[in-house]
Formats: sequence, structure tokens, C-alpha cells
Amino acid sequence: MKLFQLTIYELQVLLKNREVTSIDVTKSFLNRIKNVDKNINSYVTVTEDSAMKQAVKADKKFKKGGDLPPLLGIPIAIKDLICIEGLKTTCGSKMLQNFVSSYNATVITKLQENGAIILGKLNMDEFAMGSSNENSYFGPTRNPWNLETVSGGSSGGSAAATAADLCVASLGSDTGGSIRQPASFCGIVGLKPTYGRVSRFGLVAFASSLDQIGPMTKDVKDAALLMNIICGKDQFDSTSADTPVPDFTKSLVINVKGMKIGIPKEFFIEGLNQEVENNIKEAIKVYKNLGAECIDISLPHTEYAVAAYYILASAEASSNLARYDGVKYGYRADSGKGLMEMYRNTRDKGFGEEVKRRIMLGTYVLSAGYYDAYYLKAQKVRTLIKKDFDDAFNKCDVIITPTTPYPAFKLGEKVEDPLQMYLSDIFTISANLGGIPSISIPCGFTNNGLPIGMQIMAKHFDEESIFRSAFSFQQNTDHHSKKPDLQFF
Ligand code: GLN
Repeated sequence: MKLFQLTIYELQVLLKNREVTSIDVTKSFLNRIKNVDKNINSYVTVTEDSAMKQAVKADKKFKKGGDLPPLLGIPIAIKDLICIEGLKTTCGSKMLQNFVSSYNATVITKLQENGAIILGKLNMDEFAMGSSNENSYFGPTRNPWNLETVSGGSSGGSAAATAADLCVASLGSDTGGSIRQPASFCGIVGLKPTYGRVSRFGLVAFASSLDQIGPMTKDVKDAALLMNIICGKDQFDSTSADTPVPDFTKSLVINVKGMKIGIPKEFFIEGLNQEVENNIKEAIKVYKNLGAECIDISLPHTEYAVAAYYILASAEASSNLARYDGVKYGYRADSGKGLMEMYRNTRDKGFGEEVKRRIMLGTYVLSAGYYDAYYLKAQKVRTLIKKDFDDAFNKCDVIITPTTPYPAFKLGEKVEDPLQMYLSDIFTISANLGGIPSISIPCGFTNNGLPIGMQIMAKHFDEESIFRSAFSFQQNTDHHSKKPDLQFF
């Protein structure tokens, strides 16, 4: 195994025993990025110089010994909508192409305090709106398993970089599936924590009632290690929850005996890809063999989730994105005949097509006369979806579904058809509307060698049941350890 192929905990051992230096590890990733990323396009910014400086510092600390922070010398990369002081935060948009952050997001402060090395910023759909990474101003990120297919979105850069060993692990954000859907397309682990679990201070807002930051990693154990660091109440984010943060690594046990796993019938619908369905059914068998009790459940309002989400997320986005006016942040177009024209030109030229579509949709559903029919109704549907979960979790500990209805699709295939693109999120959106935690883990491959993901959801703040069930599955299968064959390297 090469250094860039290892997990966080494997590198921790090598670094701690001083079998390798942090400089060796960091260089191995920087070289890998140079050799491979021109084909994948997962990085928007590579912070080579500062990463090397951080590595030198880390090695000094290792030499000194004593009490060392857990992520010391571990190179991690960050979705480009999380602010890092002194670096660009582009959000995949022309609007913020040259915007430099003046402060650190709380998750970044936490990573750095724990010794992590930041390798750079990762590509994404513009303002996190999309399911294929094709909405990035910097061009699409390709899927390392097949360069003609999409990496998923919006955290496609985070998923592809992690899958192609261009970082040890990454952070993404998930509003309607943006961590889990690309994780599933690229064959990695992606966790959307409970709403409120992780501070969003320094995360550029898309839809504030849904956005969450989460880890994207090569396996379940690494996800638990990162969760131990990024979770917790933050004085800078009033929506972060004051709920105790357990040591998630304690849930990494192979034990699902007696665990109740709910299988919702609404997720096994017409249009579900046959290979995806077969793989999930195989996975359910694995759980049964391990002594779990699998029961049929119903989440009756699932069919309304996509419609409700695209109303609510767009409404919130139209309000959040009002701040990009050419005055306060980023790009400014010609002022023409005055202020109004400057606003108009800036937003016309600075935003891409999909972002404009969401702003228009959001403004429409919030406008007087339509508010009750669309926005208010969607809020009511959201309450019903949340209630579906409350009822379900009275009967079971976790819920298992496919993460996506099909594996990664071809670049260009859905770009002209927004509705088809929106339907990619059909299985992931409900967890955001309900605010519950949800993970995607690798559970197999199609005959064409594309990864398939399984989604595991649990009740609010019960990431521990997710880790227990995900780890039990992982340790009894080998899908997570397969790597894409990057022949061009
Ligand atoms: N694909 C969904 C959308 O475009 C979800 C995006 C996300 O989770 N950020 O809105």
C-alpha cells in the first residue's frame, strides 16, 4: 500500500511510531494530486506551501513527543464552501471566484487544533445546488471509477478526491443529499449528522434549516474519528445543539443482534435500478445473518419529499443569496446606469443557470398570493415527513434504504432536464427534512464496476446506532476496501 491509500487510523499508527513523517505523507498526496487530478478535477485550490509548512510543524511536535492531538499530520481537504482564513472560498461560483475568507469556520478551527493538515479546497456544484457537479463554474468533477460518469453532487469534489486517494478524508455539506449521494456514486462513506450536531459557523448558507457539515471518508471508522472532532455546541452558531457528544469510536462494534432494522416499502419503487435493488437486498441478508431483526415499515409521505424540498430549499436559498449584490461580496459587473443596473448585471453574470432557477423558484413560492399555496403547504408536508420518522423509530432502531435510485450516470445525461436531476435526490431528501442523521456506505458494485451505496438513518442524535450498524456491515464485507483502477496514473 502507498501512503496516500491509507486511512486516518492507519496513518495515525505509522506517524505515532515515527515510521513515516508528516512530510512524507503530505508529499505523497501533493504528488498524487499533481499526477491524477487533471483527469478528475476535484480540487479548486491546492494549498501546497501551507500544507508543507504545517507538515514541518507536525513533525517537530512528533519529535518532541508528549500529548499529541489525534489528527496530527493527517492531510484533509475541504469542500469549497467552508471558510478557511486567507484562502479563497469560491462555492463553485463565478460570483465568489476571488473571494478570500477573513476567518475560519468552526470545523476548520477544530481540525487545526487537532493537528490536521489542510490540503486544499474541493470542487462542488455552484452554491451546493446540484447532484452531478456539472453546475460548477470550474468544470465538473469526474468519477474516479469511470471518468465519463459524474461524481455526484454537490460535494462531488470531496467524494472523488477521497475515492481517488487525493486526500485521506474530506468534509462536505448536505442540504438534500450532497454528502451521501456523491459518496454513494464514488464508493466512499459519507455521513450527514443530525441537524444541529455540527456548527455551521463559516459554512456558506444554502438552505439554513437543512444544511449540515459532515465527514466523507474511506471507511466507517474514519467517519467516527472525524465526528469526534467536529461535533458540539458552538457559541458562534445558535442552531448548534447543546447535546452531549459521545465518543463515536465506542460504537464501532460488530453487534447488531436484536437490533431492529426498518425497511420502508416506499423506497423500493418502480424505477429503482435492478442492480441497486439486488445489492440492498443482499445487504439486508447480511444483517439478518448477523442476528438483526428486519421489519417492513412505511414512511407514507415519502412521495412528497422531493416537491416539498425543492420549494423549501429554494425559498431559503433565494433569501440567503440576496447578499450577493456586487457590494458586499465577490464579483461586481459594470455599474451601467446606476445602482439597480449594477445589482442586475452582477447577479445576471455572476450566477449560473441552476442558481438563477432556484432564486426565481424561491422568490415565486414566497411571494404574496402564492405563499400559502406553496411555501406554507411545503412546511406542513415537512412536519408530516418528520412525524413519519418519529412513528417509524418507535418500531425500529435504524432504517435502511438505497442511497440513490441508480448508480453514477453519464456526464451530460441529465443536465438539460432539471426535474430528472432533482429526482436523483429522491431517497436522501427526507432525512434533511426530518433533521435526522443518515450515512451512505459502500454496499456493492454494478456489473460495469460502478459503486452502489446503502443509506442508514437513525433518530435525532443517534449517530451511535448508525455507526454500530454501518461498522457491523463493513467488517463483514469488503466493498469499502476496493479502489478505482486509475490507469492513467
Ligand atoms: N441535489 C440537491 C440540490 O440540488 C441537494 C444539494 C445539497 O445537499 N446541497 O438541492
